[in-house]
Amino acid sequence: MQIYHLPALETNYFWLLQPDADRRDAYIFDPGDAAPVIDALKRYNLTLAGIVLTHHHWDHTDGIDALLEHHSIPVYGPISKRIPQVTHPLTEGDSLDLGSTRWSILATPGHTLDHIVYYCANTQHATQPSGVLIAGDTIFAGGCGRMFEGTPEMFLQSLNKIAQLPNDTVLYCSHEYTLANLAFAQAVEPNNPDIAQRLTRERRKREQKMPTLPSSIGLELATNPFVRCQQPTVINSANSKSGQVQTTPADVFAVLRAWKNDFPAN
Ligand SMILES: [Zn+2]
Repeated sequence: MQIYHLPALETNYFWLLQPDADRRDAYIFDPGDAAPVIDALKRYNLTLAGIVLTHHHWDHTDGIDALLEHHSIPVYGPISKRIPQVTHPLTEGDSLDLGSTRWSILATPGHTLDHIVYYCANTQHATQPSGVLIAGDTIFAGGCGRMFEGTPEMFLQSLNKIAQLPNDTVLYCSHEYTLANLAFAQAVEPNNPDIAQRLTRERRKREQKMPTLPSSIGLELATNPFVRCQQPTVINSANSKSGQVQTTPADVFAVLRAWKNDFPAN
């Protein structure tokens, strides 16, 4: 499989999947705008075969109607009253075949209640043995989405589901927020050398106008505070920030999420 990155809107990436090298069929994940998708289809000589959605926010869905004007194709997405265009609703435990690739659906409520993510174990591709996760706004490189609709318990459970995937799983998130996220990660864990090294590497990529994505599960486990809520350094930091002893990982997560909301963007 090939996954093309389409920078779009202010900070979004739309991911364009070509499942099979010998076919021109492609699937767009989370098209918040149609124009970059139409451009990319032309540039890579691909035919749009379907639209795939993680959640209802406008920057993931606003391009759907314009794309459907030109293509009679299925729209896969969560069971959600807020995305009327979905023709094939999906929920936890479902699987979805896109070309020769098979994707498992994981429900990951927290950022929104309708959020789902797409995991392909990808074992049939000998040249690219790692699995792939299309994660929307649940997890970001070095961070996670804002908690608009869920509870800390719910969001943490969703992140734990993702954290349990194999370490070499390639992680495609929907926003380029990595430098701001890692600056926050460093505030939480000032002495974590993996965060410092990653920040240097990712800064270099951004200076060259390259995306910092995809990431991997292993890299997030080492550097992303939101999947490190059981690490003593992260717990201590949440305790100092809140002035209270946090007793559960969800409490730690809640402190981090509120702290990040007020953290300067750069
Ligand atoms: Zn969102």
